[in-house]
Amino acid sequence: MSHKTIMILLDGCCYDTATENLGYLEHLVSIGKGTKLRVLGELPSLSRPMYETLMTGLPVDEHGITNNHLIRCSNQISIFDLCKNYKMTTAASAYHWISELYVRAPFQPLMDRVQLKAVSKIQHGIYYFEDQYPDSHVYSDAEFLRQQFEPDFLLVHPMNIDDAGHKYGSTSSEYHQSVAIENILLSTVLPIWMNAGYQIMVTADHGMNEHHLHGGNSEQQRMVPLYLFSDKFVKGIHTDQCLSELFIAPLLCKMLKMEPAPGMRPLSQMEVQIIDV
Ligand SMILES: [Zn+2]
Repeated sequence: MSHKTIMILLDGCCYDTATENLGYLEHLVSIGKGTKLRVLGELPSLSRPMYETLMTGLPVDEHGITNNHLIRCSNQISIFDLCKNYKMTTAASAYHWISELYVRAPFQPLMDRVQLKAVSKIQHGIYYFEDQYPDSHVYSDAEFLRQQFEPDFLLVHPMNIDDAGHKYGSTSSEYHQSVAIENILLSTVLPIWMNAGYQIMVTADHGMNEHHLHGGNSEQQRMVPLYLFSDKFVKGIHTDQCLSELFIAPLLCKMLKMEPAPGMRPLSQMEVQIIDV
């Protein structure tokens, strides 16, 4: 069984909008090839704090990245640190805030956009710094990294859904269309990545509301999808109860066959049981 994992982080993608538009992922789950869960995001439902929560398994009060304007590197044990300890190769095709958290801060567009063979927590990264950078290019950048470096852990982080949400709101046609485009992109890359032996996680950091916002405590802003394509989990739809976002990091550890960091919640405490015992 392969432990290589690709995490696709759909920035700002609501649970309901994912269900309505990500037909290819819904198909894979419906034919027994995947696992679907509903995740309740942590607070505040903001990007940079949630990136750190997703990568460390810690709530905001513990990791200290309290808002988007706090620009510094992570000082906690992240998935990238653990991979490094296990001598695994890591790569990211991601928004520049990921580079700021796990490589260096502040991000310098003229210096930091492409960082290959870097001596840092993320060894190979291609980072964009405009929210309109096309998601199609984010996947192309990811595929370049995958082919060149065969990473054990690859983070793929498109921003166009969040961008559409901020411009037009979560009930807009534009927001829905941005998720529908993701459906096409995912149905293009996932067969290739699965055939190459990768386990896949698709999730989001937070949702979006009709006022073009996220950050607060409402279902729209917090509820996000989690799709898993891995033989390590019970297949099917497990959405009756919400899973806490704090379990994403330990789930990644399970996929990558690593011991979780001491601060991460044990998977035995998950609200939804998807691990065969
Ligand atoms: Zn946003």
